[in-house]
Parts: sequence; C-alpha cells; structure tokens
Amino acid sequence: MAERAVVINLTAVPTQRPAWADIDLSAIAHNARELCGEVAPAALLAVVKANGYGHGAVAVSQAALSGGATWLGVALVEEGIALRNAGIEAPVLVLSEPAPAAMADVVRFGLTPTCYTPEGLAAAAQAAESAGGGPLPVHVKVDTGMHRVGATPDAAAALVAQVRRHPYLTLGGVFTHLAVADELDNAYTGRQLEQFSATVATLGERPPLLHAANSAGALWHPAGRFDLVRCGIALYGLAPSADQLGTEVVGRLRPAMSLRARVSFVKTLDAGARMSYGLRYELAQRSVVATVPLGYADGVPRRLAQQGGEVLIGGRRCPIAGTVTMDQILVDCGPRASVAPGDEVVLLGTQRGADGRDATIGAWEWAQRTGTIAYEVVCGISERVPRRHG
Ligand SMILES: *Cc1c(COP(=O)(O)O)cnc(C)c1O
Repeated sequence: MAERAVVINLTAVPTQRPAWADIDLSAIAHNARELCGEVAPAALLAVVKANGYGHGAVAVSQAALSGGATWLGVALVEEGIALRNAGIEAPVLVLSEPAPAAMADVVRFGLTPTCYTPEGLAAAAQAAESAGGGPLPVHVKVDTGMHRVGATPDAAAALVAQVRRHPYLTLGGVFTHLAVADELDNAYTGRQLEQFSATVATLGERPPLLHAANSAGALWHPAGRFDLVRCGIALYGLAPSADQLGTEVVGRLRPAMSLRARVSFVKTLDAGARMSYGLRYELAQRSVVATVPLGYADGVPRRLAQQGGEVLIGGRRCPIAGTVTMDQILVDCGPRASVAPGDEVVLLGTQRGADGRDATIGAWEWAQRTGTIAYEVVCGISERVPRRHG
C-alpha cells in the first residue's frame, strides 16, 4: 500500500499571527541586477533551493528573473515542479543528479537534470525517449575537489560522449562546484578551476555552458565565472562569509529578509526578578519586560539568548531575557521603557528609532553568536512564520 504523506499546510490557514517575515522583492531584483552587472558577460542562475533560502521560491524566482537572472537552480525535482506549477517558464537546473525514478518528472516538467553517473544518464535518456519529445538537455557535473557529488575528471569525457551519442540527450553544459571560494586567499580554488579547465579541454567541442561559481566564486574569483554563475546567498543580500561583510560589493547588496513581530504582553519586574525556563536571566534593576511571540519553533535559535542575542524595539537594541522558548521570547527593555503591546519588534532587519537613526540586526550577527552561517539562519526561519512579500 502506498504511504500517504500527511501535510499540515499552515500557509493555507488565514493568519492573524502578529509575527512575520518581510521579504523585500525589490531587494532581490536589485541584487540580481547588481550580480548581473558584476559578472557580465557571464549570466546569472538564481539559486532558489530550500524555498528560496527561506524567502519563498516562487516570489524570489520572479523577482530574480525580473532583475536579469536567466536561469534558476533547485536542489530537488519537487522544487522545480513547484516553480513550473506556479507558471515559471525559465530554464531550471536541478543541481544534483535526480534519482532514476524522478527522471520522468524531470522531462515532463521541462527541468534540466544534472548527471554524473552512467546510470543517471541512462535513466534521463530513457525518460526522454519515453516522452517522445525533443532531446533532453543535461548538465554534466565534474568533481574537481569538493568531493560531494560529481564525476571524476577522468570519467567526465566518457559521460559527455554518452550524452553526445544519445539521440534523446543533448549536452547543455558542464560544471563544477567550489569548496572554499569564500576564503579569498585559499589557493585550492585556483587548483579546482585549473582542474575544471583541464577537464573541459578533454571534451572536444566546447560545451554550450560552462559554470563553476557560487556567490563567493562569482564575487571573488573572476576566472571562475565562465558562462554562468550560480548565486544563492548574494541574491538574498547576504555575504557568503562573515569576513566579507565590509566589502564594497557586499555593501551594494540589500538583505531581503527581515523578521518582525508585535509585542504581545508587557510587565514591569523588580530588580532580582528571574525569568523564563531555568530562571537564567536576572534583572539587575527594576525593568520593563516585553513578551514577543516568536520562538525556536520559528527559527529563533535557542542558543541566541545565552550568546547575548538582542532585538530592536523602538530602534533600540534590547537583550533577549532568558531562555528562548518554543513560541515566545522575553525582552529586557530596561527601566521606564515606554513599550506597549502591539509595538513592532525587529529580530532581523532594520528599525528606525525616535531619533531618526536606523539600527540593524543582520543574519550574520545571529550566525556569529550561534556558531553558524547566515545561510542556516535564513533557511531556518520555519514555515510557521508567514512571509509577507512586498
Ligand atoms: C547551493 C548551491 C549554490 C549556491 O551557493 P551560494 O553560496 O548560496 O551562492 C551554487 N551551486 C550549487 C551546486 C549549490 O548547491
């Protein structure tokens, strides 16, 4: 008996929730334009896997295409199908080799598969032949040192020959993936690019599209741009690594996601009061404490509080007071703070204070406090948080 997945789709329930993620689609389009300008004449493939790094894959795809991206990239066949179901017609590359059983859908939905095994190519060819349409373009991935997926450089020529021989396949491109492109001085990237070029040189006729660069590669390794760059994190306005936060090009990008909520409850507590699970936070002075309805089930890392995490209220930084709970956090707003239920709280993003000055908390700030990268922060904002695209 076939198993049926039970899907509780909260996005189908009209939300009243006073907590949300704003997704600035003009920032996505702007970032796409900036990246296109930076890498020209190479083209931009917008990586929209994992629901567009948590930003909403369909809306992000449309914004990226409007900003000049010509390709989209996904991790899963299902993600590609979701784009097609939303009416998106741009070429979509599935970045790893789909399972043989998924190749029929790859063909049916007009997705471009990555292949790096003879079995994968055979499955792609069979699916294309059964569908009886034109030849299916495939991109062959070569492993030049990331050692995640891809054919060895030695095996690449045989795979490419297999594609070229087959009447139902056509070679759309050949690519590789860089392991340390975010480390500017690491010579390994240069060696990967050399290995890639050397491999391409064994393939005879130049493949129509060569690509190697992720965001860091696109920004910092011009020799790796080839025909197409595959940008995810930079498209969302975030630096590929914390070391690059101050660079000129990153300064031209605009973070697209902010995480906001409204204060749900306010009380004044005396000096010495302790709060939240474990009573780990103690007030040094009588203070206004606000409750904010976002927690670790929404993607606010539980570790953030112990690591000095803050939020913005009224344009001021205020510490998260005590343990992050599943659905709520407490915030120490300080003595005599004027804070009321309904006031806007910014967990990630920018807020203007009464003095007209902007304060900002970025995804890299969370990442550095919690020992991760901004990628994981934005991907971690859970489905439960409604996205407001604007
Ligand atoms: C995720 C991914 C990218 C995008 O990487 P960023 O660092 O977010 O730009 C590019 N290429 C491949 C193969 C990927 O898996």
